[in-house]
Amino acid sequence: MKNIAVLGSTGSIGVNTLDIVRSFPDKFKIKSLCCKSNIEVLSEQIIEFKPDIVSVFDEETAGKLRKKISGRIKTEILWGDSGYKEAVSLDSIDMVVSAIVGSAGLKPTFEAIHKGKDIALANKESLVAAGDIVLEEALKRNVRIVPVDSEHSAIFQALEGHDKKELAKIFLTASGGPFRKLEKSEFKNITPEQAVNHPTWKMGAKISVDSATLMNKGLELIEAVYLFDLNPLSVEIVVHPQSIVHSMAGFFDGSIIAQMGLPDMREAISYALSWPKRLETGFGFPDFSFLDLHFEKPDYERFRSLGLAFSAAREKKTLPAAMNAANEEAVYAFLKKMIRFDQIPEIVEEVMLKHDNLKAESIGDVFLADEKSRIAASEIIKKWSNI
Ligand code: MG
Repeated sequence: MKNIAVLGSTGSIGVNTLDIVRSFPDKFKIKSLCCKSNIEVLSEQIIEFKPDIVSVFDEETAGKLRKKISGRIKTEILWGDSGYKEAVSLDSIDMVVSAIVGSAGLKPTFEAIHKGKDIALANKESLVAAGDIVLEEALKRNVRIVPVDSEHSAIFQALEGHDKKELAKIFLTASGGPFRKLEKSEFKNITPEQAVNHPTWKMGAKISVDSATLMNKGLELIEAVYLFDLNPLSVEIVVHPQSIVHSMAGFFDGSIIAQMGLPDMREAISYALSWPKRLETGFGFPDFSFLDLHFEKPDYERFRSLGLAFSAAREKKTLPAAMNAANEEAVYAFLKKMIRFDQIPEIVEEVMLKHDNLKAESIGDVFLADEKSRIAASEIIKKWSNI
């Protein structure tokens, strides 16, 4: 039996994780759940999975949740940083599924690593913003980080049983998002409703917008560079609209190993939960007789986020954290209709250009870089949204 904590249990990865746990009650037990504020969904999860602890964002939400489930269940309800800390620290926990969206996921993920818990990592920002520090801590605490992001899960699977020294190249696949074929001149008219409507993957709003700008691929590039210790120049982004090939590893003899499957996040989640074994999920296979797998180069001209992410991956230090923070601010401003879609990468670029790229000596330095970039991004957003 593997005891599990889920950070971000009400989001799309969290809900899919619980779906797997539900199907394999003899293999997994939920010990704690954390989410920001969706107590409607969380209270149902508490009743179904009976965790020891749950934690939410703030005291008010915790109070509402207590009222909602009062007397029905013994779960301890906590809130804030200390709540998340306790939720990932229980002795009985074997693995923490890190699925909070954005850099808010960094603190609790780092805490879980610090406590020696293995990580099923869906929160890419933990590695993007603090790759060196997070990996150093994982090494120190003998923590295994198993990726949940489908591309990284694919690379992870393709590398298994191989000598890392024989790896020559990574092909990181991207669906291309909903605007793959849209003229650049049309980008300024894209609405949040259009941007969150992803053609192949079902995801939350923030990550859907990131997929539409291709910043999601940029974040994944940086995540891969840290996770697999790669030179960014050895990573090629390949647009593959069907999302069947989840990514590929190319070896120095010219051989390529691709990991494929249906575009269903539960596949990578189930692998991360059960690694090194596989679960008999019965998800089924793509029907190749009806598939026309297509690959093309990404357009760096229309999708400027990709180029920005490549520079952050090359420069490292706190630049990826700054890039990520600026992007988060810009995406949420776009979702609130304060700025246009095409202004998202412009804001990110402005913030990156002004960023004083120092090395982070501690996780605190990362938070500082994150905070500074958010302020810088908000100032630009304020200025631009008035125009
Ligand atoms: Mg992905």
